[in-house]
Amino acid sequence: MQIGNCLFAHLLICQFCYPMSTSRKKIAAGNWKMNTTLPEAQELFEAIVRMLPDVSHSTSVVVAPPYPFIPVASKLFRNQNNLFMAAQNCSSEEMGAFTGEVSAEMLRSLAVQYVILGHSERRKYFNETGDVIYRKLALSLKYSLRPICCVGESLKQREAGEQKDVVREQLEETAFMFDARQVGKIVIAYEPVWAIGTGKTATPEQAQDMHAHIRTLLTDRYGKEAAEGISILYGGSCNSRNAAELFKCKDIDGGLIGGASLKAEEFIAIAQSL
Ligand code: PEP
Repeated sequence: MQIGNCLFAHLLICQFCYPMSTSRKKIAAGNWKMNTTLPEAQELFEAIVRMLPDVSHSTSVVVAPPYPFIPVASKLFRNQNNLFMAAQNCSSEEMGAFTGEVSAEMLRSLAVQYVILGHSERRKYFNETGDVIYRKLALSLKYSLRPICCVGESLKQREAGEQKDVVREQLEETAFMFDARQVGKIVIAYEPVWAIGTGKTATPEQAQDMHAHIRTLLTDRYGKEAAEGISILYGGSCNSRNAAELFKCKDIDGGLIGGASLKAEEFIAIAQSL
């Protein structure tokens, strides 16, 4: 009963501190993917909370554990102003007979604030198309979740010099389907597929070039003020050794971190580079 009341109060507070400001946020987001058991997850959550004071208050630290561990983290993350809970996915359906799916509304009821959508692993292994990702984005926004919308080209597309067109097309069928007010709630993550989990990071020049391209596309569509308010994260083999160089770039507002987010020291060191 007491836990229920606490969770309700936390949810009410979260309604008001929904991270919606128009100023550009610096974000370090950790995508744990399908890793950790419950005891391992608990240990990692605790270590992150312990080390959080080492990170600037102006940096948002976002953690995306597997679904079952979200309630465990929600309790530990309470009262941490710059620590946010994310999900790695949500359903493209709102509710009903969709066995095994997790809805945006369910996530919201667990005090989740962010949701990663359109990750290249979802596109590749679960055949997620632009239309599916668009529907997930729409439901996330409806339930006041902040989507982290992933885009990025394959190695073949980069070698063919098609990367900017690929990213533009991916944005056109997802984030750019929304109006200026809604797009302002979306975080964009540029994740070149060839850099994810490969140890082959984009150079700061390659990453900045694409981030500037995305910012220009946003400006053309939504105007300068709106474009300047949208955080664009880089993802792909980012670690504590290369983060600072990447984050120095004008249009890189943080990172979406996979493998390196599974070690608290490494993840916090990346967040400190912002
Ligand atoms: C990711 O999966 O979003 C990612 C960036 O992974 P990694 O950091 O392991 O390349």
